[in-house]
Amino acid sequence: MPKSWRFAITMVLMLSMAAAAGLLPGCGNKQQADGEKKERKGTPVPRGKPGFQLPETLEFTDSTTFKPGQSLGDVLNEFEVPSNQVLAVNMLSQHNFDVRRIQVGTDVRVRMADSGLVRLVLELPRSPVRYRVDRTGPLKFQAYTDTIPADTVQVRMNGEISSTLYEAFMEAGGDAEAAMKYIEVFQFVHFFSTETRVGDRFSMIIEKIFREGQDPLYGSILAANYVQGEDTLTAVWRPDPKSERGGEFFDEQGQCLRRSLLRAPFKTSFVLTGSYGMRVHPITGRYRMHRGIDLAAPHGTPVVAAGDGVITRKQYGDPGLGHWLHIKHSGTGFETRYGHFSSFPRGLKVGTRVKQGQVVGFVGSTGHATGPHLHYEAFRDGRRLDPLKLKGSPVEYIRDEKLELFLVENYIPGRVLLENPGVRMWQDTFAGPLPPNRLPEDFDLKAAMVASHQPEQESSSSHF
Ligand SMILES: [Zn+2]
Repeated sequence: MPKSWRFAITMVLMLSMAAAAGLLPGCGNKQQADGEKKERKGTPVPRGKPGFQLPETLEFTDSTTFKPGQSLGDVLNEFEVPSNQVLAVNMLSQHNFDVRRIQVGTDVRVRMADSGLVRLVLELPRSPVRYRVDRTGPLKFQAYTDTIPADTVQVRMNGEISSTLYEAFMEAGGDAEAAMKYIEVFQFVHFFSTETRVGDRFSMIIEKIFREGQDPLYGSILAANYVQGEDTLTAVWRPDPKSERGGEFFDEQGQCLRRSLLRAPFKTSFVLTGSYGMRVHPITGRYRMHRGIDLAAPHGTPVVAAGDGVITRKQYGDPGLGHWLHIKHSGTGFETRYGHFSSFPRGLKVGTRVKQGQVVGFVGSTGHATGPHLHYEAFRDGRRLDPLKLKGSPVEYIRDEKLELFLVENYIPGRVLLENPGVRMWQDTFAGPLPPNRLPEDFDLKAAMVASHQPEQESSSSHF
């Protein structure tokens, strides 16, 4: 990434200049006089030359970014960190950092001395925190997670679709990330790839986070709606510090927007190439029932479980479906079947429990197939149906007094912000996410509630 490199280089230059000017505190080192700083690349400083005594506390800083396939150990080796220190840092990081998130594009900065690593800083792309490791003894390191100071503001984004949702987002001043976050909110109830129409309107309240030296990034969506003709889908975030996800989106009837089944078993894009129903078979030329849908994606694309469940069948080399498997989504009456896989991930067998979104296979063209695609079937209470028409049930409901509280504390403020472009948005300079659905302190919520039509609270069982 040229940009992050440029940033990294700038950082090194700035640090070098700061060090030269004596601005940086040395680690256990009070000598920062001119000429003591070593450049890592270029002419090496003569070491151990007779009559030439190097100061012991010589330090320099360096930086790089994680490249594909690299581990933290690889990166530290690149900086020639002694292997016993690499081991110590690795052990420490595994217990203190979310190591899986240290990924391609992570900025790495090190401060090195003759004695090895003094400080390591890992700045993850688009993360509100950075990881820091400081050496506190010869082989002792201490890990810290620092919040990066940021300005977070709530922004309203809205628009109308004239060609694609993505383009509408660009026109509204958003970017691909904002569009992805928006699609995720409604992914279970609206199938954007096939159900989007020209003239549909969207609106959302989202956090925008500004950090020094970085492009602004989008935080959480607080409220969003999607309007198609007479139908409006509204989703408002309800925080729940106890949940793994930190909360969920709900509608005004208290139904969670997240459903027991995904609309499509992919995390990446795909193309619908075969519909459910009677058709002329692409290979045999015979007119017959197509009992699923075909979703084309490049060979090897991961396919995910549409919902939590148990693998009840797994087969290799079937003449029709090739390598395929079948998942029973326990307690919901739903089952799904996936065919033509090129391969399965390791460890999956009949009886294995899988989670929604877990990879269960890779796109291929085994069996009776003209090219790489997924053949996807769905069942409800034992009967086959069109997977495109399948909408799982909400994974959670808010009921009774809790629903009233949600409406007053989250839903109505969220809708007020969505529907009233005149309302001033919350903004603050602080580190971390904003409190959800927070209206300005001087905002007259009561007046807004009277002005905005009252939500219907009677029905709580209707499904989209
Ligand atoms: Zn098919």
